Amino acid sequence: MSASKVYDSLIIGGGPGGLSVALGLGRQNRSCLVISHKHFRNDGIEASHAVLGHDHVHPQIVLSRARDQIARYQNTSYALAEIISAQKVALPQWRGHEGFKIESREGETWYGKTLALATGVRDLFPSLEGYHVKMASMALGQDTTKNKNGTAKVTILTNGPYKSNKVDPALAKQLKAVMARGVKLDQRGVTRLEDTTKKNEGLYVHLKDHETGETEKVFFAFLVHKPNTQLNARNLIEQLGLEITPGMFGDIIETKPLMPATNVPGVYVAGDAGNVLTHVTTALSTGIGAAGGIVHYLNEKDDEDALESIGQGGIPDNRKQIDGTGCSTDT
Ligand SMILES: Cc1cc2nc3c(=O)[nH]c(=O)nc-3n(C[C@H](O)[C@H](O)[C@H](O)COP(=O)(O)OP(=O)(O)OC[C@H]3O[C@@H](n4cnc5c(N)ncnc54)[C@H](O)[C@@H]3O)c2cc1C
Repeated sequence: MSASKVYDSLIIGGGPGGLSVALGLGRQNRSCLVISHKHFRNDGIEASHAVLGHDHVHPQIVLSRARDQIARYQNTSYALAEIISAQKVALPQWRGHEGFKIESREGETWYGKTLALATGVRDLFPSLEGYHVKMASMALGQDTTKNKNGTAKVTILTNGPYKSNKVDPALAKQLKAVMARGVKLDQRGVTRLEDTTKKNEGLYVHLKDHETGETEKVFFAFLVHKPNTQLNARNLIEQLGLEITPGMFGDIIETKPLMPATNVPGVYVAGDAGNVLTHVTTALSTGIGAAGGIVHYLNEKDDEDALESIGQGGIPDNRKQIDGTGCSTDT
């Protein structure tokens, strides 16, 4: 691949967020390179859920179908690499406009007019013996979570004493409400998780009373845990000078709504890296939004160049980046 080629967009990340940007650009006849080192947040799970038309499908099958469909537009390339550096540079190949240069750990260099970060987040799993990535999240509402009298058959494990005056008042109120609906609170420490002998059929949680020191092994049909998260590719975010904001479970890159543009013109974010709601469907919608933003950004530059070529330039090069207002996202 020639180092002097300039893509319309460099997309770092080949998960649902990155591929969605590629699909949006593909449909609008813009070239892109998707670079991934193939470490996905949901590595290890056997099926994705709540993705319309793909419920209970292996996440790699979803991505593989996406790549097949993107291929139809014939303007997306792929590279397997870890990007370790990203910077803004003037591109002589693009009439001197500012674009981006990225470099991989393996020593490759690529250039693009815009950059989409779809690098995701990683979960900070607890160092608890027996903890597996086997979260049956969002299973509430199934019959197995109800007693015969209709009350909830759910226990919240607080992993230590819970003091209502020490937590956020909104959370304390919510806990009171769910307990009124039959949810139990177990304040013992969680010391270990243990598989049952039957595959995918519940687990044992080892609990320890902090006062008496007594332990008990309790069977649960499933366990739901929402860990905090950490941004991937923090080095790239810092090199580019992107603004970060605290999310509910960890930092995210700050973006403007609709077409997720960052504070750096030409840089867009798709997927978990810029979202509080970290799901495949959010990654897909922000990816399409980012593609829309990128196309508008490039069209503006093309307009400027066209006007300049007929001596009617004068649109300032540092014009405000498209923030979505008044722009069509119809792809
Ligand atoms: C256990 C588990 C179960 C889940 N189940 C569901 C579910 O059922 N339904 C659902 O909707 N969501 C689910 N999710 C959430 C879902 O996995 C994420 O929302 C989704 O993967 C986000 O997509 P993304 O493209 O933002 O990031 P990811 O899919 O994590 O992709 C990140 C991409 O960035 C690349 N990358 C990062 N840094 C670099 C770098 N420096 N150089 C090159 N490449 C880089 C990676 O290689 C990868 O290609 C689950 C998550 C977990 C942890």
